[in-house]
Amino acid sequence: MYTETTISSDRYRPSADMPVPDDVVDTLLWRLAADVMIEHQPGPDGHCANLRCADEQGPCTAAVQAAMSRTRRQ
Ligand SMILES: [Zn+2]
Repeated sequence: MYTETTISSDRYRPSADMPVPDDVVDTLLWRLAADVMIEHQPGPDGHCANLRCADEQGPCTAAVQAAMSRTRRQ
């Protein structure tokens, strides 16, 4: 029997336990960006520890864009 699941359905999200700052308008985006930043930290060799961008020198593109999305004011 085939059961359809989503990629993130059973994944632990660190941002779920983080308090969202009062000035955040889009809390969903803020939590998503927080998860990306946590998952894309530079490893001991200076490269991103996430397997999706192992060749990138940290902070990788994903981490930089996540950081930008959290600081951008609209
Ligand atoms: Zn990365």
